[in-house]
Amino acid sequence: MASNRKVMVLPGDGIGKEVMASNMQIMDWLAKHRSLDFDVSEGLVGGAAYDAEGAPLSDETLADSIAADAVLFGAVGGPQYDDLPFEMKPERGLLALRKEMDLFANLRPAMVFAPLVAASTLRSDLVSGLDIMILRELCGGSYFAEPRGIEELPDGQKKGYDTNAYTTSEIERIGRVAFDLARKRAGRVTSVEKSNVMFSGVLWREVITALHEKEGSDIALNHMFADNCAMQLVRQPKQFDVIVTDNLFGDLLSDCAAMLTGSLGMLPSASLGAPDPETGLPQAMYEPVHGSAPDIAGQNKANPLAQLLSFAMMLRYSFGQMEEADLVEQAVDRALASGKRTGDIMSEGCELVGTDGMTRAVLDALDELAR
Ligand code: NAD
Repeated sequence: MASNRKVMVLPGDGIGKEVMASNMQIMDWLAKHRSLDFDVSEGLVGGAAYDAEGAPLSDETLADSIAADAVLFGAVGGPQYDDLPFEMKPERGLLALRKEMDLFANLRPAMVFAPLVAASTLRSDLVSGLDIMILRELCGGSYFAEPRGIEELPDGQKKGYDTNAYTTSEIERIGRVAFDLARKRAGRVTSVEKSNVMFSGVLWREVITALHEKEGSDIALNHMFADNCAMQLVRQPKQFDVIVTDNLFGDLLSDCAAMLTGSLGMLPSASLGAPDPETGLPQAMYEPVHGSAPDIAGQNKANPLAQLLSFAMMLRYSFGQMEEADLVEQAVDRALASGKRTGDIMSEGCELVGTDGMTRAVLDALDELAR
């Protein structure tokens, strides 16, 4: 029977292809053991698309991605593309997808798996069991709002400027995602801005407060200034459940939170857009935070776990397959507990494995969990 879950798979370049191959094995496992089928189409993006199709994202691949229920993305880039004109660079393919799919909500979980507690730079008691979600607004604020630019001043100096502007509807739509996320988690939202010194922050707080009264009274909401939030993230990160914030603060705070967990090879992400009026599903793209890692590409050294955790996010947020999402995350935890490690998370007393070995460990863990 054909599946009604349409997934567009875009492996991209470098280790993107390797970690996606690992992901496909997990998908096959779910199809076989949980009857969870996907209608998968595969396309080219980034340097691979430039090489074969003359552009980092073809119109056809973009249309297929928009038509899919979810896009599963690997990574793009590589030194061989460094000298291409700006519009042909591999990263333009990724940015075009985010823009054309209007993916305004960026979800970056920071989760610490028990076997990796020691990889954090913070004390174990501060990070063990950590599970927070940073929700960053991705389409507005300082990186997009006008006016912005560099201009010549009459006295010969130059002036560079950006605008941190947000409208009511932009704040409301990200606020709604935050409350929805909290409902699937511990039910708490911290809204972060700098309303003490920025007008955009004053409006942000006002709109989130009003939305909370209207649509989110089942959620516990508190407000925090962004500088304090940065401090609290390294002082006592477990106080947070969902943090919702703007584009600029989200960029900084999500990287800060990510490093609480240790390694780039462990970090998943999701970017969501507005729900489709017919299906109710949001436009969505799931991708590991890391890039194409040219230094280890093609050597069976890439850690596939960030990709697999991104896939687990897809199961949870696009398809509501909570049990299967939990299963994949538990299998990752077990694989780590078995002592298998790729080079990026290797520690004393563990067994060094490649991408294939780590994938095998996750598959074995799935088999064990299914028994
Ligand atoms: P990177 O994330 O590719 O690599 C940084 C370092 O982390 C490297 O040493 C790499 O070997 C290691 N690393 C990353 N992911 C790993 C994994 N899964 N397992 C083991 N080790 C891993 O970042 P970079 O080196 O700055 O960029 C390389 C290319 O990737 C560039 O072309 C850049 O533009 C692109 N990039 C793409 C994305 C994306 O597709 N979303 C994100 C960041 C960078």
